[in-house]
Amino acid sequence: MTTDLLHTLLAVQELDTRADQLRHRRASLPERAQRDQLAALVESLGATAREVGAARSVFATEQEQLESFVAEGERKRASLETKSRSTFVPRDAQAISDELNAIATRQAHLEDRILELMEEIEPLDAQLADLAAREETARADLAAATAALAEAQAAVDAELSGTVEERAGLASGVPAALMERYEKLRARMGGVAVARLEGSRCLGCHLELPRGELEEVRREPPDALVTCPQCARLLVR
Ligand SMILES: [Zn+2]
Repeated sequence: MTTDLLHTLLAVQELDTRADQLRHRRASLPERAQRDQLAALVESLGATAREVGAARSVFATEQEQLESFVAEGERKRASLETKSRSTFVPRDAQAISDELNAIATRQAHLEDRILELMEEIEPLDAQLADLAAREETARADLAAATAALAEAQAAVDAELSGTVEERAGLASGVPAALMERYEKLRARMGGVAVARLEGSRCLGCHLELPRGELEEVRREPPDALVTCPQCARLLVR
């Protein structure tokens, strides 16, 4: 074991820490929160529009049906009027006239209801137009936010791949058994397996080494592999 090797391992550790930070930054980019927020807005505007559209379609369906009744009444009225022009028996003429009056009354009721329905539909159309305009704006904002997120991610990814590459280069110079020990320790110790010993303090756990143990560590040859008695991290002296 050479002290150079430990310094290499410490450099690997620093790059691993850097890579962890970059992965965390990538996962918590503000651009991602912004994108998610806009996606939720687009979704909720769409859901509201579907609800309003469903309410509108109930009224519109009734309106269509009533308009077909009005058209049917109109056809009946026209045919009765034709018939009345060739009817000269007073009793028959009276019957036709009564029927025409009944049709006129019914048409008037239908048309009143159609007007009511149109009044119900009008504000819903205004609401749908407003929702559509807001959704269009939100969709444009979402597209911009998605592009901004991709750009921010690409920047982090470029830095991350540089870090990972540099780390691989350094790690290839460290014996496999030591790398394995390092990886196991790193997994167990929250990502930090190698720490500097600064004075009597381990920079991994930030605790002072007890005097006796510090002296033991100091008695070890400079290339010996020593660990912190408190956190078990590899110490670089
Ligand atoms: Zn420690």
